[in-house]
Amino acid sequence: MTGPARSYPAPHYRAADSAVLERGAPEAASAPPRLLLDQTLGRLARWLRLLGCDTVWDRSAGPAELLARAQREDRVLLTRDTLLGERREVRRGLVRTVLVRDDLLVDQLRQLRIEEGLHLWGEPRCMVCNSPLEPRTLQEVREWVPPYVAQTQTRFTYCPSCNRVTWQATHWKRMERRLVEAGFGDEEDGSGRR
Ligand SMILES: [Zn+2]
Repeated sequence: MTGPARSYPAPHYRAADSAVLERGAPEAASAPPRLLLDQTLGRLARWLRLLGCDTVWDRSAGPAELLARAQREDRVLLTRDTLLGERREVRRGLVRTVLVRDDLLVDQLRQLRIEEGLHLWGEPRCMVCNSPLEPRTLQEVREWVPPYVAQTQTRFTYCPSCNRVTWQATHWKRMERRLVEAGFGDEEDGSGRR
């Protein structure tokens, strides 16, 4: 590995460490969706990457640019703009849009879980840059993490774009609670997904 930067960013979720949520259920053979989010949905974008979705957040594009990009890159466009679904590209079926109705993150996640079949895919993406994360062993990252982390954590991931090593920590517990609150990991929800 080309030495990652000595930064200690927020940890990323690693499935096998979780007692509540599991990734990549066998029946979940479908690939995660490719998504494009409008400027109002930056926070949601980070969480969708955590779930494993290829998620682009465009913080500056207007409606026309968003629609063009979604079509060009074959992405579903998530937006809070109620008028976007009325645009010609959408009516002609060239672009698919999802209107995110709620302000609260948990409600947004719940809507996407129930209506779009969002669940946990095999591997998380980098919450910062959307690159696929690569698993690393403690041996590979030992010199790049604080001693306490090396003593207490066993699973690490590396983002080749950000050049950062991440790990799970207590921070994840709060995030996991949020996902459980949104219904992820609930097998009784009737959606057939987890
Ligand atoms: Zn990254």
